[in-house]
Amino acid sequence: MMGSSVGKLQTAVEEIVDEMRGMSERGTVASYIPELACVDTKYFGIAVIESDGNVIVGGDGDVPFSIQSISKVFTLTLALGKVGNRLWTRVGREPSGSPFNSIVQLEREQGIPRNPFINAGAIAVTDLILSGHQPREALGEILRFMQFLADDPTVTIDQEVAASEHRTGFRNAALANYMKSFGVLDNPVDFTLGVYFHHCAIAMSCRQLAMAGRFLAQNGSNPSTGLAVVQPERARRINALMLTCGHYDGSGEFAYRVGLPGKSGVGGGILAVAPGKASIAVWSPGLDTTGNSRLGQIALEKLAKKMGWSIFGA
Ligand code: GLN
Repeated sequence: MMGSSVGKLQTAVEEIVDEMRGMSERGTVASYIPELACVDTKYFGIAVIESDGNVIVGGDGDVPFSIQSISKVFTLTLALGKVGNRLWTRVGREPSGSPFNSIVQLEREQGIPRNPFINAGAIAVTDLILSGHQPREALGEILRFMQFLADDPTVTIDQEVAASEHRTGFRNAALANYMKSFGVLDNPVDFTLGVYFHHCAIAMSCRQLAMAGRFLAQNGSNPSTGLAVVQPERARRINALMLTCGHYDGSGEFAYRVGLPGKSGVGGGILAVAPGKASIAVWSPGLDTTGNSRLGQIALEKLAKKMGWSIFGA
C-alpha cells in the first residue's frame, strides 16, 4: 500500500531534522508573553500524517509547546459550526498586511477585523463561541474539540502561559475594548479575553497538532471516525483563509516559499495542510520579524519541495 512514498517521506523528514539541527540563525522567541520568552530556541520538531494514515515524526515532534494562534483555525471551525455564515458579519476574509496585533485598521473599518486569524478577528470569533455560555463551558468546548480531533484526551491548557498572557495582554485588551465600542463583541470583554488567552495557551506536540489538522487535508472528514467534522466546502474555505491570512503580514511570503495553507503561532508552531495528501506540524520557537517560526518556515519550504506538495505544482 505505501512502499516507496513512505521511504521518501521518512528520508525527507530525517534530512530536514538534520539540517535544522545545524542551523545557527534560529530567530528570536516571543518575549511579550513572559512565559514564552523562557523557551529554548534549540528545539525543532516535525510530524507529518499522510492521508493513508502513515505517521512520520522527527526531532522534538513529541514535545508539547504553546500552540498560540494555531488555535484560531479550530475556534474558527467551531464558530462556523455554531453560527454559520453569520460569522462574516463580525469579521472579514481579507489579508490584513499588518502585524497580528495591529489596531490601525479597526478604526477605519468600524471595528470589523480584517480576518479571523489576526488577534482582533480571533477575539471576535471567540466572542461568538462564548455567547450563551459561561467562559468555563466555552473553553471546555474548545479543549474537547482539540482532544477529539487529536484523538488524544491528554491535550491540555498550560495555565502558566495563560496567566502570563493575561497579566501582560494589554494590547489584546485594547483591541477587544475597541471592538466592543463598535458593538462587535456581545460578551463582557474580560470574559471573551479570558477564553481567548486560555485557548491560545493550549499545549500540543507536533504529532497531536498534525492529528488535529487531518480533517483539513481530507475534505473535512476525520479519519479516526470516518465522519465529517465539516463539509468539504467548509474545509476548502478554511484552507483558503489559512493560505491568504495564516501568517499575517508574512502570508504572501509563506505562499510564495511553501505554497501550502498554513497557520502559525508565536509559540513557534505552524500547522500546514497539503490538501488530499498530508497534515503537517512543525515547531521551532525562534521567530522572524513577522512573528512566524523561522526554522518552521524553512522546514516546510524544504518538505513541500522534496515531496512536490505545493498546491501550485512543482
Ligand atoms: N496569544 C497570542 C496573542 O494574542 C497569539 C498571537 C500569535 O500567536 N500570533 O498575542
